[in-house]
Amino acid sequence: MALKKDINSLDSEQEKTQNEDTSLQELKKLENKKDIESQSLEVSKRNYYENGFRDFGFNQSILNSLRNKGYINPTPIQKAAIPELMLGRDLLGQAQTGTGKTAAFALPLIEKLADNKELNAKVLVMTPTRELATQVAESFKSYSSESSNFKTVAIYGGTDYRNQISVLKRKVDVVVGTPGRIMDHIRQGTFKIKDINCLVLDEADEMLNMGFLEDIEWIIDQLPDNKQMVLFSATMPSEIRNIAKKYLNDPAEILIKSVKKETQLISQKFLYVQRHHKLDALKRILELNNEGVIIFVRTKLLTTSIAEALENSGHTVAVLNGDIPQNQRENTVDRLKKGFINILVATDVAARGLDVERIKLVVNYDFPFDKETYTHRIGRTGRAGRSGEAILFVNQREKHFLRNLENSIRTKIEEINIPSNKIINEKRMEKLIENVNVSSLAKDENEENKALIIDVLDNLKEKYSMDDSNIAMAAINLVIGNKSFFVNEDDSWIHKQNNTDRNRSNRNSNTRMRNSNRRNNYQNDSFETYKFNFGKFDGVRVANIISSICNSTNINGRSIGKIQIFNDYCLVDLPRDLHRETKNKLKKIKFRN
Ligand code: AMP
Repeated sequence: MALKKDINSLDSEQEKTQNEDTSLQELKKLENKKDIESQSLEVSKRNYYENGFRDFGFNQSILNSLRNKGYINPTPIQKAAIPELMLGRDLLGQAQTGTGKTAAFALPLIEKLADNKELNAKVLVMTPTRELATQVAESFKSYSSESSNFKTVAIYGGTDYRNQISVLKRKVDVVVGTPGRIMDHIRQGTFKIKDINCLVLDEADEMLNMGFLEDIEWIIDQLPDNKQMVLFSATMPSEIRNIAKKYLNDPAEILIKSVKKETQLISQKFLYVQRHHKLDALKRILELNNEGVIIFVRTKLLTTSIAEALENSGHTVAVLNGDIPQNQRENTVDRLKKGFINILVATDVAARGLDVERIKLVVNYDFPFDKETYTHRIGRTGRAGRSGEAILFVNQREKHFLRNLENSIRTKIEEINIPSNKIINEKRMEKLIENVNVSSLAKDENEENKALIIDVLDNLKEKYSMDDSNIAMAAINLVIGNKSFFVNEDDSWIHKQNNTDRNRSNRNSNTRMRNSNRRNNYQNDSFETYKFNFGKFDGVRVANIISSICNSTNINGRSIGKIQIFNDYCLVDLPRDLHRETKNKLKKIKFRN
């Protein structure tokens, strides 16, 4: 009879991990104490790291590699699956990526192959995509990095056969691959499968979605009969149950109900946007968060056109779609991981299994086809216990899809507004101030630069009689550059999009637009935005601003552009070519003293 393990609550696990984190900190503090023998510290440190995994009976090489990876405690799926797999049982596991499922099957298999000296592979892992194949193979390699002569090979389509054939000729323990390429190698006789004693199907539901059922069955039929079988799937539709019934022998069943916990780390939001405003809305979203973003679109063509548009707006972007050659894809993911690229525009298939910890935001630019696609997409953020955000673009016609989606994932997705000029400008301001502050904190770090800065300051004071505040202003001006710092495009369309049934009550715009046709139609580049330090809290209104400006300067009321009033300041667009004297007068404008 199948053994069913329900893992309901992870709270106590998390609590324990927290306590252990604290003790790790304590341990680290101890490192500084000179009176402790460094050797005994090493021993206690090693015991600390290994404790959580020691009970499984892993050999020292595996424990060492886990220590190198910084794993302290097994995750719930590892706790449940590892003992079963060590006993040689078949296993049916329902768990998503991000739960630690790869280590759950990789570690016991590495342990079992510790003394393997035979040439032919013993374990075959099948994955739906080459990305996942590479990732799983990398995991096997890192968990076996301290085990001598343990070999893992990844074989997948889109790359040269010759290299794969030559590695398959040598000693190999584990082969990880995609169904199509595995079939090719079996047919050509370049992958010897007669000694395979364990088959793992990873993300089995995905393989089915991608139409691999026949291939998988063909492969299973070619493999030796007496093998251990492991099947992992994020969802458990009837087709997966049927495969399990057909091929698995009295499997241990593990259901990780923590799927909700995983997605709880992801704050799920949506916004209404008409189709022709999607790109504008995207750019505005990226104003608030542009570091570690994946944008999901439906077609390859769209990946490139959106990437181009974003690049033109100054973002570092790359695309991931089925047309990109494998080595280039790997390179892209690597650059994303290292932070050379901040934004990835991807199709669903190309981004399968992507595991990049620094992804903070997932944008569903096109509505996902189904719940599974949505869950997979948003799962690209919130990795390794970090929090993340997912934003879904919804147009008028997709409203009922949204309701269906919420029902099927049993989660309410929160509505947000497209960021208005006001929000973006506040963010730009905040960033500028932060950057200046950070750079003031960093100024002491480089002695050479410090000397240079002092030299420049002395020069400015001596040659041009500038005082500190003038110099500071000039330096900030230099940072801002020639381009208009604040966004001043017409954002009235946003308010229309935001004016939906669901958030009508939330609307709270304190930005006043000047609505005369003349002002809405003005040419942006003939204006400059000025900031005045009075705003809504001072009771200021548009009329007061116009009269103050006109009374104190020779500026004609008709030539004043857009006026935005915020809580404690306001932004006014004025002609770009104002005379220095007028500018000086503007500086002195007061409102109610
Ligand atoms: P997976 O679900 O296998 O894709 O793993 C998700 C992430 O969790 C990967 O980045 C793993 O390196 C990490 N991970 C797996 N097991 C552990 C563990 N016991 N402790 C800390 N991190 C882990």
